[in-house]
Amino acid sequence: MPRLYLLLGGNLGDRVLYLQQARAGIAKRIGILERSSSLYETAAWGNTEQPAFLNQVLEVQTELSPEQVLQDINMLEQELGRVRLEHWGARVIDIDILFYDDLVLQTQRLTIPHPQLHLRRFTLLPLAELAPELVHPVLGKSISTLLVDCPDELEVREFGAGSFDAS
Ligand code: ATP
Ligand code: CA
Ligand code: CA
Repeated sequence: MPRLYLLLGGNLGDRVLYLQQARAGIAKRIGILERSSSLYETAAWGNTEQPAFLNQVLEVQTELSPEQVLQDINMLEQELGRVRLEHWGARVIDIDILFYDDLVLQTQRLTIPHPQLHLRRFTLLPLAELAPELVHPVLGKSISTLLVDCPDELEVREFGAGSFDAS
């Protein structure tokens, strides 16, 4: 079964709860949730009025195609976001596809691997926790090497390590 890496992120409302609901939706719709990274907190860029983000990377085994995965994560974002939209007028959960096995894909709707992943500490750090040896199929470097090389200076810190249910 193809192995999928997803990045979850959110910075509004009960961030931990939204991540948990996203994991539950992913397990229900997309596939077997094999592993979850710790949660990581990152200050939002520029605008300090904006709350900090929580991010998490998931490893999922799926039988869905990349396009089907995208469709399902869009639906899940909408479902979780709809509740939030009424109260806050903003999206509370973002789900990105980082890798789908070693597939390289570029269409109008979908770019895999995610085109920004090597530029973002908040993506590389949780990913390195799960898969430091994973080699980026385009850049030809491991995640741990990409992390060392990453120019992003935004601080990313572990948030409540070990205290979250992976389910
Ligand atoms: P970024 O991609 O820089 O993290 P974002 O996540 O805020 O930005 P969105 O508004 O959530 O951007 O997504 C815009 C579109 O990106 C989606 O509708 C989707 O079609 C497209 N997309 C392309 N590649 C991917 C990918 N690997 N994972 C998720 N969405 C993707
Ligand atoms: Ca994103
Ligand atoms: Ca997104």
